[in-house]
Amino acid sequence: MNNDEFITHNFGIDKELINLSKKVLSEVEYLFKEIDETAEFNQLKVLSAMQKNRVGEAHFSSTTGYGYNDLGRDALEDVYADIFRAESALVRPQLISGTHALYVALSGNLRPGDEIFSPAGLPYDTLQGVIGIREEKGSLKEYGITFNCAELIDEKDFDYDAIKKGINEKTRLILIQRSKGYTTRQSLSIDKIREVISFIRNIKKDVIILVDNCYGEFVEKEEPIEAGADIAAGSLIKNPGGGLAPSGGYIVGKEEYVENAAYRLTAPGIGKEAGPTLGILPLLFQGLFLAPQTVSMSLKSAIFAAKLFEEYGFETFPKWDDKRADIVQAVNLKSAENVINFCRGIQAASPVDSFVTPEPWDMPGYDCPVIMAAGTFVSGSSIELSADAPIKEPYTVFLQGGLSFYHGKLGILLGLWNMLSNNDEH
Ligand SMILES: *Cc1c(COP(=O)(O)O)cnc(C)c1O
Repeated sequence: MNNDEFITHNFGIDKELINLSKKVLSEVEYLFKEIDETAEFNQLKVLSAMQKNRVGEAHFSSTTGYGYNDLGRDALEDVYADIFRAESALVRPQLISGTHALYVALSGNLRPGDEIFSPAGLPYDTLQGVIGIREEKGSLKEYGITFNCAELIDEKDFDYDAIKKGINEKTRLILIQRSKGYTTRQSLSIDKIREVISFIRNIKKDVIILVDNCYGEFVEKEEPIEAGADIAAGSLIKNPGGGLAPSGGYIVGKEEYVENAAYRLTAPGIGKEAGPTLGILPLLFQGLFLAPQTVSMSLKSAIFAAKLFEEYGFETFPKWDDKRADIVQAVNLKSAENVINFCRGIQAASPVDSFVTPEPWDMPGYDCPVIMAAGTFVSGSSIELSADAPIKEPYTVFLQGGLSFYHGKLGILLGLWNMLSNNDEH
């Protein structure tokens, strides 16, 4: 039995779709070469940082209790700092998510009366609650911190006039979100981030520039600090955990700002000195080691999905051959049924919980039902193949992750097939 016969026999996907997917693959192949080149560069970067910091077996044993003198944790943080070209890093299981890492970075560095400014519109949903754009108990707004932003022009270009007008004497921190998150705006490339940072520094020198780096790590050869940011943060169950990290978040940047964040995470006067790693250090090191390759698998899956859906006339963000700045692929599927059937196909192709049927549900923080497909080893991990969508116009599904391209490809095929075969028009 060859591969195609295996797919038809075991997963019921018809021959016509498999043949089309082969044509798609041959057309996207040249982009895969570029992805491999970037992945190799980033792999070398990670390796060099591990060697420079003399990572050894001794670093795999963790502390408990207060977590003083956790040598492995300190080495891991030095490795992160080197990879991200930062002075310092905070990499902890006690940072429970990307939102938490960003909250700690924001609240540790802002004081009452300060203002946050975003040059690319509203931040990610959960951060809207953190900042107080959406009312939440304990938001930064309750502590006298305000927010202002400029919208992108045509969802892609910085509105430099609006940015200039939006930055004032209160502006203390610039929040730049690299990934589009759950919108269809363009994600920001490192070059674009560099451009806007240099513009902002010319208007106001003494601002802290924080990049929300979620989904962006290892997609390009450079990271935000190299583009002039002061600090960046993200989640370990996305790109930098490489699919192995069971939990955690990171903050990298200027020593002073990372320290301020650490004082918020633990307590003033304690900071980075405490924090047990509770046995997970080997997974954090090994996940980081694998992350450049894992990210490349996700990128290939995203490109394959974009091209295949474009063949069927669906609108995609980004387009298959656009320059990518993150691992997220959005597709407008035109109807609620399509969204639900696609997500069910993704779920059915998963290594875990393949027998589960995802249903839309009223998730806290959203104004409509949301469906999520995630048959993941690590709960909620979105560096593993996953898809989610709010059930509302224009019925956009967000697809990301894939620890292996073979799995990514099968999931996308099964999602599309489940959609097409349940659709009356086909
Ligand atoms: C995922 C994400 C976050 C929040 O991360 P969680 O780990 O889900 O809390 C913030 N910003 C962006 C752009 C993201 O993609």
